[in-house]
Amino acid sequence: MTKTCTHLKTIRDVTPSALGCEECLKTGDAWVHLRICRACGHVGCFDQSPNRHATKHFHATRHPIIEDPPEGWGWCYVDEAFFDLSDRKTPHNGPIPRYYRSKPARERPITR
Ligand SMILES: [Zn+2]
Ligand SMILES: [Zn+2]
Ligand SMILES: [Zn+2]
Repeated sequence: MTKTCTHLKTIRDVTPSALGCEECLKTGDAWVHLRICRACGHVGCFDQSPNRHATKHFHATRHPIIEDPPEGWGWCYVDEAFFDLSDRKTPHNGPIPRYYRSKPARERPITR
């Protein structure tokens, strides 16, 4: 389970583009987990979310590295590798809006 990422040098200090998933906030959709792109700061929802904007962002831009905002670990889409970013986390602009704000009935326990 220890793969290495060859893109660590591409990690930049970024400013999050939004407090929650940029696209979901616009459409009122729900998300489960958020990821911050460490190439441009795009905030998108991750794989357990219905819209998977973080993954769409990767396919559209090929920006390989995303960060998990509260915990500060990173994931590389290309190498499929996890690594620790806790010493250079992206500071968030403010509290992350509650998940499932428009569809509370569909909230499920969050598994990780
Ligand atoms: Zn990589
Ligand atoms: Zn989204
Ligand atoms: Zn990006």
